[in-house]
Parts: sequence; C-alpha cells; structure tokens
Amino acid sequence: MNIFYYDVAVDIPVRRCFTYKSISKIKKGTRVTVPFGRKTLIGIVIKVSSISTSIVKTSAIKEIISVDDQYICFKKPLFNTLLWASEYYHHPIGEVFLSFLPSILRKQTNKSIINIDESSNYKINSTDKNFDLTSEQEIALKKLKKIEEFNPTLIYGVTGSGKTEIYLRLVEKLVQEKKSVLILVPEINLVPQMLDRFKKRFDGEIGAYHSKLTPNQRLKIWLKSRLGGLKIVIGTRSAVMMPLKNIGAIIIDEEHDQSYKQSEGFKFSGRDLAIKRAQLENIPIYLGSATPSLQTLKLVKEKKFKQVNLLNRIDGKKPPKLIPLDISNSPLIGGIAMQTMGIIQSTIAKGEQALIFINRRGFAPLYECDACGWVAKCNSCESNLVFHKSKNRLICHKCESIYGVNDECPDCYSKEINLQGYGTERVEEVLENAFKKIPIIRFDYDSTRLKGAIESIYEKVHSNDAAILVGTQMLSKGHDFPKVTLCVILNADSGLISPEINALEKISQQLIQVSGRAGRNNNLAKVIIQTRYPDDINLKQIKTGNYQKFADQCLQNNKNLDLPPYSHVCILRTSSPKSKGSIDLLQKVSLFLAKKKGISLIGPLPSIPSMIKGNVRHHLIIKASSRSYLNRVLKSLIKDLENWPEIKKTKWSFDIDPYDMS
Ligand SMILES: [Zn+2]
Ligand SMILES: [Zn+2]
Repeated sequence: MNIFYYDVAVDIPVRRCFTYKSISKIKKGTRVTVPFGRKTLIGIVIKVSSISTSIVKTSAIKEIISVDDQYICFKKPLFNTLLWASEYYHHPIGEVFLSFLPSILRKQTNKSIINIDESSNYKINSTDKNFDLTSEQEIALKKLKKIEEFNPTLIYGVTGSGKTEIYLRLVEKLVQEKKSVLILVPEINLVPQMLDRFKKRFDGEIGAYHSKLTPNQRLKIWLKSRLGGLKIVIGTRSAVMMPLKNIGAIIIDEEHDQSYKQSEGFKFSGRDLAIKRAQLENIPIYLGSATPSLQTLKLVKEKKFKQVNLLNRIDGKKPPKLIPLDISNSPLIGGIAMQTMGIIQSTIAKGEQALIFINRRGFAPLYECDACGWVAKCNSCESNLVFHKSKNRLICHKCESIYGVNDECPDCYSKEINLQGYGTERVEEVLENAFKKIPIIRFDYDSTRLKGAIESIYEKVHSNDAAILVGTQMLSKGHDFPKVTLCVILNADSGLISPEINALEKISQQLIQVSGRAGRNNNLAKVIIQTRYPDDINLKQIKTGNYQKFADQCLQNNKNLDLPPYSHVCILRTSSPKSKGSIDLLQKVSLFLAKKKGISLIGPLPSIPSMIKGNVRHHLIIKASSRSYLNRVLKSLIKDLENWPEIKKTKWSFDIDPYDMS
C-alpha cells in the first residue's frame, strides 16, 4: 500500500507546517482533521511533504484522521494568494488560511453539504436603468469594459459622478458572460446601501458577507459561492477570499479607506490582498475613489495601474465650496461656534438638512476633578476614559472596558467633577436644546451597533425634511444624503497639525469625503471647516477641492523625504506584563537590525495606549527603500528571533504597511 506524506497548516500561531501521512491522495487546499498533541485540529493541506523517509522515522509521523470536504476549500489562485500573504505579512500560515474559512468550517470536522440551485441566473431589471449615462460615464465604461485580464484600474470619480452606476453596468456585462463578481466596501455600514442598489438592478440572489451575519449564514453564503450558486457577492474585507466559481472581476469601492486594513490578529490590507488575488486569477480589478490613496496614485504614475476619470457630477452641478471658519476668537458651545449655529439655523429654516462631523464619540473625552485635577483613566490601558451620557458610563475607547460613574472624586472626595471637551453625544445635546422641533440624528459606533440600526437611521434621514445629523468619520463614507446642503467639520485642526507621516493624506481625504455628502441635489451646498489655522498652507490647497493636485504634491513630498509609498515600513509590536520584557526584546532586535545596511529604525517607542489589559506595549518602526530587501531582512530576523529566550514572556507581531504608526 502506498503511503503519502503531506505538510499541513493548522490553526495555531506557529510559522510552519506539520507533516502527516495518509493512504489517500489529497489535493492541496483541502481541509483535513489531524491529531495534534492530545487534541484534534482542523488544517489545510499545503503540499506533498519533501521529508526523506530514509532519514525520518516514519512511524513517528501521525496519520490524517479525515478528509473533510468533497471539494477543495482553496483552489489554486486563492491558495497561492494566501501562501503569498503568509510570506508577505510574515504571519503564521495556518492562521492566514483558516481565518478565511467560515467559523463553522474552522471548528467542525463534519462534511458540509448544501443543495445548490445551479441554475441561478440574474435578470436585469430594465426599469431601474431607464436613463442615459453622461458622456463622461459612457467613455469611462467603454474603456473599463475593454479590460479582460489583470490590469488594475483606478476609477477616480468625484462624489456624485455616478461611480456606482459604472459598477452596475460592469457587473451586468459579467453576469451576461456567466461570470461571478466580488464587490468590496470598506465598512459593514455601507453594505445595505450597495446591496439595495444591486437588488434593484438584478433579479436574483445577491450575497452579503460580513461580520454581523450568524455563523450559519456565513457558511451558507460561502458554500453557495464555492459551488457556483451565487454569482454576485458584496462584502467587507473578510469577504476578500470568497471562493466564487468562475470569478470575472473584483470591484473595490472607496479603495483609499483605512478600514480595509485589519489591525488585530492577522494584520492585512483587504485591498492589497484583493489586488494580489486578481493578479493570480488574471482578472480585472477596479478601484473606485474620490480620494485615491497615495499608494494607488503612485502606481498610476508608474504606469502599473490605469486611471479612468469621472470628474463631473451627473447632475452637472459644481461641488460644494469648502469654507474655513476662523474660530480662534469665538466661544464654542459644545464645540460649535456661534456663527456656525447661525448658518445651521438658516439651513434648517429652508427645510434642508445639516451634517455635523466630529471625530469623537461619547459625551466628553475627559472626566476630571476640578478640585485636585484627578482624571478618570482606564485601569488596564491607562487611556483617559470617555464619559457616555446615554449609558451613564465611562468607557475606554482603546480597550472597550466599561466603568460605572461616581459623582465624587476618588482622590479628594470633591463633588466638583468637570466634563471636558466634546464628542457626538454632547454636540447632539447642544443641538437638541437649540433646535427643539428638529430631529437630531446621531450616527456613530454606539448608535449603529445593533442590527437594523443603520436602516432605521436611513429611514429617519430620508423621511424628514429639516434635520441635523451628527456623526463621526463613519458618516463621511460613501453614504447618500440627498437633502444635506450644509456640512460642518468641528475639529479639522487635530488632523492638520498631526505629526503622523500620513496625517495630511488622511485629513484631505476626510475633508473631501465629508464635503461629498453635501449638496448632492442642490447647487448651494456649503462645507464649513472650523479651524484656528485658516491660513494653513495645506488647508488652502485642500479648499480648492482639487484632490489630485494636492495628492501629487504630497507624493512629491514623500518622495523627497523617502516616506511611504516611496519606502516600505514594518512595525514590530511587542507586549508583556512587565515593561522590561517588551522593551528588552525590541532593543535586542534593534541591535540585530543595526548590522543590516539600508534599514532605518525609529524606536523602540511606547505605543499608544501604552498598556492594554495589563500588558505594557512598545513598538519599533523598521523602514527600507526596497520592499523585497525589507522582506528578506524580516525573514532572517524571524529565524533568529524564534530561538531567543526573550520571546517566552513577550508577545510580538509584525504590522506590514501599517496605517496607524502609534
Ligand atoms: Zn479630586
Ligand atoms: Zn482601556
């Protein structure tokens, strides 16, 4: 009897595979159950093992318990994308593969079988497209339809230029060719709106895949896609490896959005993984944005990506004006200047809507004793606690710990507690007092958490005329609010003067995205930016609304300073119960890397927050001009590092292409 040996990746944080034997021939990418110590684990067959049976004692090699599916979970292009990802992100291979399986398949060994209606076909609803495209849309669509193979294309479209209609028509073509398509949006809140647009256009089942589904729902959509019963899937970054049969293209909406980056566990960029997948599948990938990332614009400049423009709104109207409002001498009520109040008043008097944007949720970011200066801090991470009035709780926004509210100071027993600063809840309260008869609708993490909350907020916004929306950056992303004619940005300054290297890219995207929410149906839209620096040189540039020109300047700047995307960055993060452990490890790493040419280091630095759940955190920023060189250096570092005694008590992880540098 023939015995075969396989290398299997299992769901544990180890950067290697384990060898097992079997009498069956098993294809790579197949899900198997294997013994592991005293447990059994689910694994993925990575390759036929190259162990030499003449050297290794084969009797010590354990046998694969079962082959769990009748199909291969990860077929070749997906398999190779994930193999690439584990190398590129230097993350344990088993976690990389298994994190893209629905949780049920990650845990259970039972075979999953489902009845699929193979005949699933889409009918195009022609009443939904009973209008003409603008000539600009026609030209863009013609160019985009010609792309048949991997040829990443940026769809640079200002807000209101009809990008979604372009997506719909591209999908129409694919559906007619019997191909399937994956559409990614950056946030779960954007799924319902996109799903709605697609449901109106296509009669037939459209899949939505994101973290708010139950494990069973996720399994069902995954299997249906895998077996060919579902051809259009809309999802967040967790959907990027959706095993769609006969995939014809990937669409990434709002490609610049930081939410594509997963910052916990396996830290990957959903956008970059999608691009790699499209390359290995050899299919077109379309990246849409009104404020493309510098990374994408650089690739366009280097002719590695194509660019198609939609520079005019479909209604033919001009984009809203961005008006900086100097607040250095005006008193603020809950963050709002008197002058701004007046403008809001006249907007709602006309039966129109205003949108107030503030990048902080909760009521007050500082809960402080007036008598002795004590400030409420989180016990496990030292961050300042944010007072949430609606829940009457103090909440840590870094680690989500929740604390009860005491109305006296724990240090001096004074009752003079002061609520400093303002967040969405406070702004909401101020507006409720000022405009008693007008609905004030809050749109932030807290108000949208529950299932169906987004839909009911939409309903409220659309069914009212005069109304005021108050929200965090969540509100700036791709939503349609046709009755909004005024946007107010309460605190742009923190972005304008931030020392972070990608701060300008972030703030310009944010300002232009927020302004894109205004005036979709109206000529007279305004965007007020409250600032203490009305003459700031960058603000003046952003104010023109010409994002591409501003981004070009940022690119040139970063090129001169050898910053990303012209250099490549990895952050090594450590955490340990004692401060010494986490910093000692990074110091040893610094010494190791100091010997390497062409690597520059910043740190070790304390992270923000410096402690999470009782563990002290530090990080080291590692930078190199060449991506492949950085990769090689990190590989040799890991090889060494894994034998160091220091890693026994200190957790460490890599963050490749970090978005957040703190
Ligand atoms: Zn006190
Ligand atoms: Zn905390």
